[in-house]
Order: sequence, then structure tokens, then C-alpha cells
Amino acid sequence: MIPSPFDYVAAQSAGHAIELLADRGEDAKLLAGGHSLLPMMKLRLAAPTVLIDIGGLPELAGIVAEDGELVIGATTRHADLAASRLVRAGAPLLAHAAGQVGDPQIRHRGTIGGSLAHADPAADLPMAVLALGGSMEVTGPGGVRRIPAPEFFAGYFETSLAGDELLTAVRVPARPGQPWGYQKFTRRANDWAIVGVAAAGGQIALANMGPVPMRARAAEQALAAGAGPAEAAELAAEDTEPAEDMHADRDYRRHLARVLTRRALQHQA
Ligand SMILES: Cc1cc2nc3c(=O)[nH]c(=O)nc-3n(C[C@H](O)[C@H](O)[C@H](O)COP(=O)(O)OP(=O)(O)OC[C@H]3O[C@@H](n4cnc5c(N)ncnc54)[C@H](O)[C@@H]3O)c2cc1C
Repeated sequence: MIPSPFDYVAAQSAGHAIELLADRGEDAKLLAGGHSLLPMMKLRLAAPTVLIDIGGLPELAGIVAEDGELVIGATTRHADLAASRLVRAGAPLLAHAAGQVGDPQIRHRGTIGGSLAHADPAADLPMAVLALGGSMEVTGPGGVRRIPAPEFFAGYFETSLAGDELLTAVRVPARPGQPWGYQKFTRRANDWAIVGVAAAGGQIALANMGPVPMRARAAEQALAAGAGPAEAAELAAEDTEPAEDMHADRDYRRHLARVLTRRALQHQA
């Protein structure tokens, strides 16, 4: 449980962090809340030679409403997202999802940018951002680009971020009053989802049903064609490739996806 030796640099600004990433190459890693990266380093599943700390940069934190969207700075902590009046009004699904992450300690350190960049298919916030039709604002030496959520999640713990790019903000449409449902099946209160479902405005996203958070397209199409929640939910596991592990085999995960989708659709807030 002792990481390999590494250097530590506190970035002075987002621009400084990008310069450091370009200088130090693929041996460098950004450090935000550290609640995914540091455990991986302790297990020696990651061995960066330098950590670039962006966790304390005020310019990357905070939430504003802009042109019908909520713009959430990458280092906004889960607890701040859960408590934000703007998010609770404009994207209550996201505020709720942030409140489901781990326990209070994790929610006070972990950041939305870290969660999305880490791209754990079982995580809460990637699934929520996908269900809401969100996108990532990414900054690198070439400027700023915007990546829609389905293109951002590229594979198992993999994103389309380039090595010298920083996720600077997450954008989600503000839709006050939009019905939403959220279901997370866990064995213990602060665990990742064995399967998770987030539904909003006819879009349904699944956690832990494949290598990336994914949309339940067949169920969405059935809803759009007039099917009721129970009928549409029967299609929730179509085209999924869930992993098997000590918590659940593939068939059980598919069963959970159907049951949780029905509940998410039937019990919308
Ligand atoms: C005990 C425990 C329980 C947990 N339970 C849950 C849970 O129930 N649900 C859940 O969703 N998560 C859970 N988590 C994960 C938690 O939400 C993490 O905080 C989160 O996944 C990572 O955020 P971080 O800010 O800590 O990122 P870090 O650990 O600092 O970084 C994670 C990765 O993202 C990269 N990164 C960070 N910020 C950026 C950025 N702005 N741009 C580009 N790359 C960046 C880092 O280089 C690193 O590769 C749990 C963690 C622990 C330790």
C-alpha cells in the first residue's frame, strides 16, 4: 500500500497545469480530489512520476447558469454539487447522483472532473451526465473543445481526453421541472453501483452494464413510441455487455437493469 516515488507540483492556474502536462508527458497525472488516483497508486495500478495538483484552483471550481446550461467547474466537489441550489433546480438528477457517491468524506474531497476523467463504468456522475445529455469542456495547448458525453467515454476507465488536455468544466442542460428517476443497487451504503439507472426526459443511462456508462437505446425508443414504463424497461438490457464479478453475474446484472429501469421510470420525481 505504498506508492512508487513521485514528484508533486501545485499548479498555479489551469494554464500552468496544461503547460506542466505538456512538459512532463505521459508520466504526469493530474490530482484533483485524489480519491480514485491515490488508491490506484497505493495498489501500484498507477505509477505516475509527477502529480500536478489542480484541486485548489479557484478558477476550476463553482457552478454558473449560462445560456440554458449549468456550467460546473471540474474541481467542484460532490458535496457542493449535491447542495447547489442552481443544480437542484435545473438538473436535480445530477444533485441527487452527487449525493449518492460514497460517504461524506468522499463527497467532500472527490470532484466531478475527477469522477468523469476516471471513467469508472460503475460510477454515479458519468451515468448522470450521460442521461442529462451533458458535455465536457476540455482545454489543451490547441485551445478549448467540447465533447458530448457519449463520445467522451471511450472504453473501460478510458476517455477521449488527450494526455495534454485538462477537463475544465462539465455542461448540462438546465431543465427545471423535468421528471427524473435514479436507482442504484448496492450491497453496502457507500459502494459503487452493482447496476445503476438514471432517467430524465426520455433518456436512460446505465452504470456497470458495459465497459462505459451507456444509454438504454431500445428502452428509450420504446418509450418514444408510446410504450409504458414496464414495457419499455423490459428492453433495458438490450445490447449491454456487463462484466461478471464477485457481486453479480451477467444475467443478474441484466435482470437488475430491467427492474431498476422500471422503478426509475415509474417513480420519477
Ligand atoms: C471508498 C470510496 C468509495 C467511493 N464510492 C463511490 C461511489 O459510490 N460512486 C462513485 O461514483 N464514486 C465513488 N468513489 C470515487 C470518488 O467519487 C472519486 O472521488 C472520484 O471518482 C474521483 O474524483 P477525484 O476528484 O478524487 O479524482 P482523482 O482521484 O484526483 O483523479 C482521478 C483521475 O482523473 C484525472 N483527473 C482528475 N481531474 C481531472 C481533470 N480536471 N481533467 C483531466 N483529468 C483529471 C486524474 O489524473 C486521475 O487519473 C469512491 C471512492 C472511494 C475511495
